[in-house]
Amino acid sequence: MSKTHWKKLTNPDYLGAYSIEDGRDLILTVRRVVQEPVMGADGKKEDCIVCYWVEPQKPMILNATNCKTIVKLLGTPFIEDWAGHRLQIGTEKVKAFGDVVDALRVRKKLPAAQEPPIPCADCGQAIAPAYNMSAAQLAAYTEKQYGRKLCAACAKKAKEAGKESADAQTDA
Ligand SMILES: [Zn+2]
Repeated sequence: MSKTHWKKLTNPDYLGAYSIEDGRDLILTVRRVVQEPVMGADGKKEDCIVCYWVEPQKPMILNATNCKTIVKLLGTPFIEDWAGHRLQIGTEKVKAFGDVVDALRVRKKLPAAQEPPIPCADCGQAIAPAYNMSAAQLAAYTEKQYGRKLCAACAKKAKEAGKESADAQTDA
């Protein structure tokens, strides 16, 4: 029987149990799923099913358990049809190699519906994610910075307007 080095389970190029902070699940959107060779810690390449995300997050190696969960959740065994779907990723204690380890698991339920859109206080359009911030983060940031929830375009205008009034004050 061949043995598995524990380091093989914690490939830093891919999502791992270590990616889950404080037990908080990740909600990620599938960009594409491919089969590609993955270099193990032993230097040997092995074909794995790898899921890439829309979000800036490391790709995740999908084992059979997680693939089966996705098939059940999305109702399709075709990896092309998984793209665009959001998954909730967490950890679960599993017995492996006579030990209990944290393993990455696709949760057996789909993530809750996305947050309702947040309208921009200036133009009224839904705030879209920008500057590496989610819509909610951008809304919170602009509210702190400008006193109202703004989209990226209006935040830029508000920033320029703020600069002008600051210049005007220095001139006065
Ligand atoms: Zn706006």
